[in-house]
Amino acid sequence: MAKAKFTCEHCGRGFSMAAHLARHLSGGHGIAPAGGKKSGLKRGPKKGSWGGKRRGRQPAAIAKLGLGSMSADELAQVIVAARGEVQRRIVSLQEAIG
Ligand SMILES: [Zn+2]
Repeated sequence: MAKAKFTCEHCGRGFSMAAHLARHLSGGHGIAPAGGKKSGLKRGPKKGSWGGKRRGRQPAAIAKLGLGSMSADELAQVIVAARGEVQRRIVSLQEAIG
């Protein structure tokens, strides 16, 4: 058994089998065998993304205000009214501030 196909690059010892060298590296030098890295290389499918589909989830406000059951016309009226209300509040805030 003079063949030493695998040589330890740290101490020069020869091994006939890769497994022996790996064992020597981990046991004798404290080096983890290559290929066993667990450094986040494997990434599974992203959790939390909906795969591009945006259906099935309403913003909380829509559910809360019942906007989901309104027609587009009604929604438009709500938007106009809400915008006016926001304007009015901004004005009153500005007046309060001075
Ligand atoms: Zn060695």
